Amino acid sequence: MGSIDLLVVVVKRRVIVTMGLCLVWLGVFGIVLANLLPDGKLVVIDPGHGGIDGGTSNRGILEKNINLRMGHILRQVLENNHYRVIMTRTDDSDVTNFVPPGGSRYQRDLRGRVRLVGRVQPCSLISIHVNWHQETWRSGAIVYYQEGETSGRLLAELIQKELNTIQKTQRQVRSANFYVLRNTNAPAVLIELGFISNPEDLKAMQDDTWLTRQAEAIMVGLEIFLQQTRCLPQEAGGQSKAKTRL
Ligand SMILES: [Zn+2]
Repeated sequence: MGSIDLLVVVVKRRVIVTMGLCLVWLGVFGIVLANLLPDGKLVVIDPGHGGIDGGTSNRGILEKNINLRMGHILRQVLENNHYRVIMTRTDDSDVTNFVPPGGSRYQRDLRGRVRLVGRVQPCSLISIHVNWHQETWRSGAIVYYQEGETSGRLLAELIQKELNTIQKTQRQVRSANFYVLRNTNAPAVLIELGFISNPEDLKAMQDDTWLTRQAEAIMVGLEIFLQQTRCLPQEAGGQSKAKTRL
């Protein structure tokens, strides 16, 4: 090997070592940068009921289990789209452990959900439930918002619009006076995924593929809402209704 060949080998090695160091540096820089960048938008998913509270039921199917299943599916869909998600429950338990003893289990469970939302101040709260009606022909997902809450209403309308694109029954949003919606500062909706009393809805709500389609529709509605309104945590942190009520 001549001296020029040797020089070429040395230069090649230096180039390779330098490139390697650059890649390591870029990797470390990327990790540091990822931690410095603002986190994804935070959403709280609240699967209704749990533990000894099964919610509504039909043919041995309990609402609490559908709510939880959908909670996990919606969480996955949102996390795949760079949201951060906190769930009020991730297993078959209620949410009474967030509040000190005292009062009925039912009240403590609802207060626990509200207290968690007040602590983490999300961009939005999505509470998941299942409907029931004695007229079994009634079907379709319905999105509820707290009476008088304009941001909640907008979020509900945007999600309802998306859900209507995948379901046969075209539904309108409804205002209601639910404890969790009333006592939450973040834009909040309560989604009744379908009627457990309706055979088709009951079947659909046990099908992960259907629940995933619903979750994707919910995500699209939420995305449009957050683009229109932006998520401003300081707004949620003002005089919190949740704090004053607890
Ligand atoms: Zn319910």
